[in-house]
Amino acid sequence: MAHALGRERLRPGATMSKVDVVPIGELPPVGVVPKRMIAQVVRQDRFGDPAEAFQIEEVPVPELAADEVLIAVMAAGVNYNNVWAARGIPIDVIAMRKRAGKPWDFHIGGSDASGIVYAVGADVRTVSVGDAVVVHPGWWEATDPWVAGGKDPMLSGSAKIWGYDAPSNFGSFGQFAVAQEHQVLPKAPRLTWEAAAAPTLVGTTAYRMLHGWPPHTVERGDVVLVWGGSGGVGSQAIQLAALAGAHPIAVVSDARRGEYCQKLGAVGYIDRTEFHHWGIPPHWDDASGQKEWLAGARAFGSRIWEILGERRNPTIVVEHPGEATLPTSVFVCDRGGMVVICAATTGYSGVVDLRYQWVMQKRLQGSHGSNDEQARAFNDLVLSGSIDPCLGEVVRFEQLPTAHQAMTAGQDVFGNRVVLVGAAQEGLGATS
Ligand code: NAP
Repeated sequence: MAHALGRERLRPGATMSKVDVVPIGELPPVGVVPKRMIAQVVRQDRFGDPAEAFQIEEVPVPELAADEVLIAVMAAGVNYNNVWAARGIPIDVIAMRKRAGKPWDFHIGGSDASGIVYAVGADVRTVSVGDAVVVHPGWWEATDPWVAGGKDPMLSGSAKIWGYDAPSNFGSFGQFAVAQEHQVLPKAPRLTWEAAAAPTLVGTTAYRMLHGWPPHTVERGDVVLVWGGSGGVGSQAIQLAALAGAHPIAVVSDARRGEYCQKLGAVGYIDRTEFHHWGIPPHWDDASGQKEWLAGARAFGSRIWEILGERRNPTIVVEHPGEATLPTSVFVCDRGGMVVICAATTGYSGVVDLRYQWVMQKRLQGSHGSNDEQARAFNDLVLSGSIDPCLGEVVRFEQLPTAHQAMTAGQDVFGNRVVLVGAAQEGLGATS
């Protein structure tokens, strides 16, 4: 199979470079596509800790399908999904692509990008070579009958996350990424490349969690509990809840993280290290164990009331730790409220005491990625300056493996880490 972009597949303006590969931190002239590129690559024989699983390799620049866009990546956001990809659990994304008949025996992850369009497929109409863009990670087959029928594409069987389990395999951890046209959104001109690469995956996810599940959409005056408030999903969820006029309360593991959340709009924070009832609760027929667990959960709930100055419970709980926290989330959620969950970082056995679930008529809602409408609505808030992208640590390209490793260890959780790719490795702060 020929991997290099064929001239005949490109719109006028994009040409093949005589240069084989350009160094990291540099770009060929706009529209000139090298034959090969440098990428942080995962292979099956090194699945495990991200620090070892990712390695720099030279690979061919991929071909474009008619609905695809080739983007020279300036900066790439670090997300937890590529910790999972590096470990090969819960799914082996390389084996999955092979089963789908794809030719690659490696994975190039990266679900957040800022960059410049270098080439477009034959059917692309809304994006042009030279555009400064970001990418939202919702990926699906346009020919999927569910999608073609106009239904929410993130509920279709073909829905995947770009740069993680999408069949296309060329995410933002290489010099050139391939996205579907509908994923490509305008970059906020005032933001640096690294700031623009920070918020889209987590922000669009948080947007769907808070606005995508009627009638439980966030409203003025709602109390919203946000786990991991200083992290990627959390920092965006706090801002979105505050923008809607709600009262976000963050859960964090130290005061510095709590203060960060307050600057983003949280009305207060709870330090989870003051409580010890985490994980799977004792079985319901273990009376003393249940009593102890309940005391912990009630004390946690009381902290919410203390922060609010009144006895009100969260209408929406933004969940992602999973096993460690889900029982508490369901317990403190208001009667008729919703726990909306997008991950289970601490484990998948999230136990729900069904007594609280049915008697109080609470909703437990899964949420994954976002559709185009939600992604555009979130990006519009970034474009207008209503949302801070929460740029966290910025690292050089070769530090991508250790940046993922730090994420697994829960270190320096302030917004979103970003890796520089095409942007000059020492040149933080450039906007174009
Ligand atoms: P992150 O930036 O690393 O933040 C994770 C937060 O979780 C940390 O701030 C940490 O806060 C908190 N945390 C860690 N251990 C905890 C525990 N035992 N109990 C309670 N809180 C704990 O990660 P992220 O980007 O926000 O992503 C969070 C999860 O959501 C990941 O699993 C990711 O894969 C997933 N996700 C899913 C989607 C989707 O579409 N389905 C999209 C985005 C992210 P403290 O230590 O301060 O409490």
